[in-house]
Amino acid sequence: MDLSTEKKQKIGIMGGTFDPVHYGHLVTAEAVRAEFNLDKVLFIPAGKPPHKDNESITEPVHRYRMTVLAAATNPHFEVSRLELEKSRTTYTVDTIKELISLYGEATAFYFITGADAILEILTWHKAEELLSLCQFVAATRPGFNKQDLEQKILEIQSKYNRRIFSITVPSLAISSTDIRNRVRCGMPIKYLLPEGVEKYIQENGIYR
Ligand code: ATP
Ligand code: MG
Repeated sequence: MDLSTEKKQKIGIMGGTFDPVHYGHLVTAEAVRAEFNLDKVLFIPAGKPPHKDNESITEPVHRYRMTVLAAATNPHFEVSRLELEKSRTTYTVDTIKELISLYGEATAFYFITGADAILEILTWHKAEELLSLCQFVAATRPGFNKQDLEQKILEIQSKYNRRIFSITVPSLAISSTDIRNRVRCGMPIKYLLPEGVEKYIQENGIYR
């Protein structure tokens, strides 16, 4: 059998702390899924991300459950516990390697990021290797300059000879940081994230 002509399965990877997941994540994942004709998008809540203060991150079980609630209404979305099960700091490069070995050659991976993440990606652990492992897709995000994003994409292209796709997604100026602050101050979070996630936050007293 000639593997090169066989149709590859295409899987999007949406990594994040998801503390909590919100419509900015969901609209981005769905836009990329449709544009690149992906079979599904795997949301992978970060275990112990190297770039965030782990003390202040919400317990993995809550972030996982909120992401499951958010993904439930989209048949193309799945949530993976891959990083949550690790007790050590988790690096994206290791996660992608693990996925490649789990799924095998017949799957192509698309790592989905917002503009802020791509602007920083060269500072990530083993960035060059990471960029060689799968296709990267950079989505626009309010508050992050599109020209800076295009500049960074050109820099990566010339330095590492890796093409990064960019995509304009519906602009939602929503961040998890803002949602956490809103809950703390008693301000509404309705319409920023799915109702089920809002309810989960209220019922479990998260971010108060
Ligand atoms: P925090 O404020 O805690 O950093 P966040 O809203 O940035 O949270 P993350 O979990 O850090 O969410 O982000 C996961 C991924 O989703 C990143 O690639 C980020 O760029 C992207 N992303 C988050 N919010 C948006 C948004 N509103 N529009 C487009 N992309 C987004
Ligand atoms: Mg962030």
